[in-house]
Amino acid sequence: MNGLIPTQNNDALAGVRNLFRHLMDAHVVEALYVPLETENSVITPALVTDPVYLERANPFAPAMPINGARAVAEITGKHAPAQIGVVLRSCELRALMELIKLQQSSLEQLVLIGVDCPGTYEWAEYNRLQRDGGLSLDDYLAAGSRGENLASPALRVACQMCNQPVPEPADIRLHIFGADLSQGIPITVEDGIASILELEPVEVSGADGRQAVVDRVIAQRDQVRQRSLPPCASDWMQRMASPRYSPPASAATTARPPARSAIARPACSALLPLTMSRNTTSQLPGAKAPCGC
Ligand code: SF4
Repeated sequence: MNGLIPTQNNDALAGVRNLFRHLMDAHVVEALYVPLETENSVITPALVTDPVYLERANPFAPAMPINGARAVAEITGKHAPAQIGVVLRSCELRALMELIKLQQSSLEQLVLIGVDCPGTYEWAEYNRLQRDGGLSLDDYLAAGSRGENLASPALRVACQMCNQPVPEPADIRLHIFGADLSQGIPITVEDGIASILELEPVEVSGADGRQAVVDRVIAQRDQVRQRSLPPCASDWMQRMASPRYSPPASAATTARPPARSAIARPACSALLPLTMSRNTTSQLPGAKAPCGC
């Protein structure tokens, strides 16, 4: 179902924070993995069980301190300890799907919330921009909604050539591309969740406009990809990205998932300080720190 999250005074962040609170209040989720903004504007992903902390949620910030897929896998293991909503970008969702294939995570009890992604900055660059006051989230979202090439300052190289910026699959998808955010944040919601949230369906106006913006963003990034990657690598990545891709028989039979211990874990310090709840993770039966300590 298509809906619209109202934004007051053009404040998309307030609108999305209301949605997150609504998800927790309606018990669609018991906890939410989401990037939070600390007092000094540093972005840190956290597992939130107290809605108070959603005042600091910022899923639009153009920074990705860690890939959330690994953190989500560490939180859930094979069985999530509670109904958890996870707010992820497209590349993180795809990475999570790969970890699920490797049986390092599970979709059970997960509500996937995907956000259109105009791109992110290098971590140091993002922090410099924040320090110097050179980053306006409103301007970033406005440029992203128009599908403008965010060339200055430059996005991360991976983002400049990312041709899958739309989150798939997800139970809730927040649209930025082609959106008039002054009217609200368009969302696509799985029907069961929409009915719990009592969301009114809205007529999708400008769906063609959204598709045109998405196509333009992908075309720009394909150009960067072709300029930056040697032809063989570009061709290989195109084939890997295709839904029809299947690995050659020899690779399929010989490839083995890496041992769990061989995969880099996020540093505990990256997540533990902001695992936020009324009583830390003890509210979630069986929950543990992402590092497993
Ligand atoms: S642009 Fe693509 S690679 Fe970059 S953060 Fe967004 S989804 Fe990930």
